Formats: sequence, C-alpha cells, structure tokens
Amino acid sequence: MALESRPSHTQTVAGWAAHDSSGKIVPFIFKRRETGVNDVSIKVMYCGICHTDLHFVNNDWGITMYPVVPGHEITGVITKVGSNVKNFKVGDRVGVGCLAASCLECEFCKNSQENYCDQIQFTYNGIFWDGTVTYGGYSDMLVADHRYVVRVPDNLPMDAAAPLLCAGVTVFSPMKDCQLVESPGKKVGVVGLGGLGHVAVKMAKAFGHHVTVISTSPSKETEAKQRLGADSFIVSTDDEQMQRGKRTLDVVLDTVSAQHSLGPILELLKVNGTLALVGAPDRPIELPSFPLIFGKRSVKGSMTGSMKETQEMMDVCGKHNITCDVELIKPDQINQAFDRLARNDVRYRFVIDIAGNSKL
Ligand code: NAP
Ligand code: ZN
Repeated sequence: MALESRPSHTQTVAGWAAHDSSGKIVPFIFKRRETGVNDVSIKVMYCGICHTDLHFVNNDWGITMYPVVPGHEITGVITKVGSNVKNFKVGDRVGVGCLAASCLECEFCKNSQENYCDQIQFTYNGIFWDGTVTYGGYSDMLVADHRYVVRVPDNLPMDAAAPLLCAGVTVFSPMKDCQLVESPGKKVGVVGLGGLGHVAVKMAKAFGHHVTVISTSPSKETEAKQRLGADSFIVSTDDEQMQRGKRTLDVVLDTVSAQHSLGPILELLKVNGTLALVGAPDRPIELPSFPLIFGKRSVKGSMTGSMKETQEMMDVCGKHNITCDVELIKPDQINQAFDRLARNDVRYRFVIDIAGNSKL
C-alpha cells in the first residue's frame, strides 16, 4: 500500500515517527489528505503520550505498521473546515482521541457506540476510508473527519486537557456503564496509578465516591491522597493490606499496562461487584475462577468511549474543572519520555508541546 503517495495527499506535515520496533522516535515529514467536505484541519497544540503509544512503537501487540506516527490525545485549533461541516468553525478549540473512522451504518454506529463498530479505524495505525494509513498527533497538523472531533470547554487549558481525549474517556466510559456518574456513594477501586488511573481517581471523587487506589508503588500514596483526593491506598504487593481490603469495593477499574493476575483484585470486590478492565498488557492475564464464582463477580472490558461520551466527558470535566497532572515536554524529548514511561516514572502524563507555546 502506498502510505503517502495518493494524489489527494497534498498537505505536507512535520511529525515524529518510529520506523521499527526499537521504538526510537525521529522527525518525519509526510503528507496528509486535502481537507475533505466532511473534514476539519487542526493545528495541533498538544499531544499526550499514552502507554498505548509505547505498546505501538515497540510493536508489543504485533500489529504495528511502520512508520508509525503515534498520538491520540490531541488538542488544537481548527484552521479549515469542509463544506459539509456546520458544527465547527475556524479558531475553535477542539480535541481528537482514538477514533478516526467507523462504518456509520451498523447498530453500534447508529446508537452512538461507534467505538464498538467492527470496522473502527484509529487515529494512528489505522486504514482510513481512502485506503491510506492514519498518522497520529505527534505532528503539527491533523486532518480529521468532523464526526470524530469534540470541543474543549473554554475553562480547560489545552495542555492539561489533552490526555482527557484518551485517558479521560477510557475511564469515564466504564464508570458511566457502571452507573458511577449519576449515583454517588459507591466504593470504587482504581488499580494502577498512571495516566488513566489518576484521571479515574479525580473523576470518581468528583462523582462523589469513596476511592481506593491499588498500586505497586508505595511512593505514590501521599500524592494519591493529598493531591488527587483518594480516600484509601492499598499496596498490592502487601498481602496484609490486600487481606484487609477483601470484599470492600463495588466497582474496580483496572488500568494496569503489564501482565498481572486478576485474582487478588477480584477478591477486593464485594459479592456481585464488577471489575472493568481497560489496561491492555501484551500477554493474557490470569483470571482464576474461584474469586469469580465465590463472589458472583463480573469482569468486563471497555474500549475507549464513543464520540458522544467523549463530548459528555469533556463537558463534565469542564463543569468539575478536572484536568490531568501533566509533565510538559518538547518534541525532542519524546524518547526520554518513553524511557521514563516504561519505567513507571511519570506524574502522571507526559504531554508534548507540539506548537512550542509553553515556556519549557
Ligand atoms: P501508565 O501511565 O503507564 O500507567 C499504568 C500503571 O500501571 C502504572 O502507573 C503502574 O501503576 C501500573 N503498573 C505498571 N506496571 C505494572 C506491573 N508490572 N504490575 C502492576 N501494575 C503495574 O499507562 P496508561 O497510559 O495509563 O495506560 C494503561 C494501560 O491502558 C495500557 O496498557 C494502555 O495500552 C491501556 N489503554 C487502554 C485503553 C482502552 O481503550 N481500553 C485506552 C488507553 C489505554 P502503580 O505504580 O500505581 O502500580
Ligand atoms: Zn490512549
């Protein structure tokens, strides 16, 4: 397949790509499609570094098409709109997350659940409707179909809002599914205090729940409680703490990026509790049957969120003033950021200052 040789690909873009599974990011000039009738063009301001980007550049899941331009936590400003686009105008502050296209016709697309369309295409490492490979937000400009673009509320800063586009909606969607958005007073657990986990804590607190962080990092306890507002903290490698936590939680969100057993986490759930799994380790995770059957517990997965949910989540974050705790970096620091992310050394999300607007 010609990656960038289509005649319709007329716009030259400066970006950053990995060319092989060494995962090393280097500057990369490429072409994007013309701004079509349903498209908007966006000057990218900021792009978050999701752990998924690391999985992709390293080819952890065996599905990477190189060169890969990662990035699906994008905020920016609209510079051009296609003739069919009525809901956005030049100058609007917008965000783009994981989704670039879906079939628009199946039951999921028709019911605002296009994230479960079986023809879903992603912002990067996807195949767009024109047959070309999609390139993500580690780049100075993006062309996106307007149906996969949301508004960033005026009160949210563009840098700290960027990770909401993936991390935010990925935890918001299962929370909504588990009735946590409208019904306060539940006991909620968050496993893994990283990019996804720290937003989950902030949201669950804003929605009025008692929040327990389950973490491998004792060093995160003080911050989790004092800065993020967590009520309780369990070190998952401490058997005594895990014992004390048994049967205490209504819902647990598991955001862990590495292989681990779900057994001890399931034990933390009350009878009938739900474990919503969003972390995506490259190898199967252990799911022992006893904690499931002795507690009538359920495990379910969740894949980012729909566009409707993404806008709802942005608006809810605007209302509650929820943003991400970010470490801003310049594009030439992406490789260092990847190294630190791989070592679990980030509080709590790296965001690339693509447009060079912040003092760094
Ligand atoms: P992240 O910032 O690296 O956070 C992951 C957290 O997992 C770490 O902060 C750490 O928290 C914990 N962890 C790391 N290694 C661990 C280990 N060996 N055992 C137990 N815990 C460990 O990553 P992220 O960006 O939040 O993404 C998390 C995962 O979600 C990734 O696999 C990503 O691909 C996936 N994801 C899925 C979706 C979806 O749609 N379902 C969307 C986005 C991302 P502690 O230090 O607190 O233990
Ligand atoms: Zn992501």
